[in-house]
Amino acid sequence: MDYICGGNKTRKILLSKPLTVRIIYHNERGILMKYITWGILMGTTITGILTGEDLIFSYKVGQFDVYMLVENNRQSVPSILIGAGQDDVNRYLPSGTYKAETNTFLIKGMGRTIVVDTGFGSTIFDSMKKLRISPADVDVVLLTHLHGDHIGGLAREGKALFPKAKVYLSAREMQYWTASNINQGAVNALKPYAGKTETFNPSGLNTGGTEILPGIHAIAAFGHTPGHTVFLIESGNNDSVDQLLIWGDLMHVQDIQFPLPDVSVTYDTDPVAAAGVRKQILAWAARNDTPVAGMHLSFPALGRVKVDGNGYRFIPLN
Ligand SMILES: [Zn+2]
Repeated sequence: MDYICGGNKTRKILLSKPLTVRIIYHNERGILMKYITWGILMGTTITGILTGEDLIFSYKVGQFDVYMLVENNRQSVPSILIGAGQDDVNRYLPSGTYKAETNTFLIKGMGRTIVVDTGFGSTIFDSMKKLRISPADVDVVLLTHLHGDHIGGLAREGKALFPKAKVYLSAREMQYWTASNINQGAVNALKPYAGKTETFNPSGLNTGGTEILPGIHAIAAFGHTPGHTVFLIESGNNDSVDQLLIWGDLMHVQDIQFPLPDVSVTYDTDPVAAAGVRKQILAWAARNDTPVAGMHLSFPALGRVKVDGNGYRFIPLN
């Protein structure tokens, strides 16, 4: 059994037996959760000062609850950068490394449970368990693109890991990676969803995207991959609309790509197109003050974008 505690970090909790404690901190509009298992003697009162890793961050977008789930977290080296000089690396990555995080997102609301990318399939299912969501509860898996760190949780040994879900992805992405079997991993991951795969044609940011499900708009962000798609989540009424842009792989090394958005990475299929769409979306997010979320942004991986000189700055939401 979990005990849920609101308020700040030092709220006291009465524990009666060893258990997993779920601590929730409220911030601006979101909720930060940490989990820790404590073996506590019966009746001991403890103060909730926590250690351990942050794995889940939740955020409300109107009627949607959005959960960011960390899948993987490691240090990596900047040799993947394209268009950054040694001076830039020294200035923005003084340690010579950067935090390479991989995230997935889960959206609940409007009668649906939606997973946005599946990461490597490493910790997503543990995180879902903590949220008391079973893979069989998932109605829809949205894919930003078909790289392995986004589709690794779709299938195992030929079986769908989200047995009741439909998979949505852009027609262009599907065509590019599967038509010529250029990526056998993508073909294998999608195979168990045959007959349950929906393709769509994302449209431009200035048209508001293509609404593929109520409140979920697909926006073309081609460059990182030929059919790379970002999703604008929208909920509200005429008086006030909440939005969140889940931008997939628009960015991989945030410490350098916010200030220098022209810098691309070797993972980008078309580095020039990737830089163009990155700058367009950063400008839009800053101008509209729309919160953004990314599969390779560091925890909490949600924040706002501000103009800073010739580039941008990221203000995390926690
Ligand atoms: Zn990725």
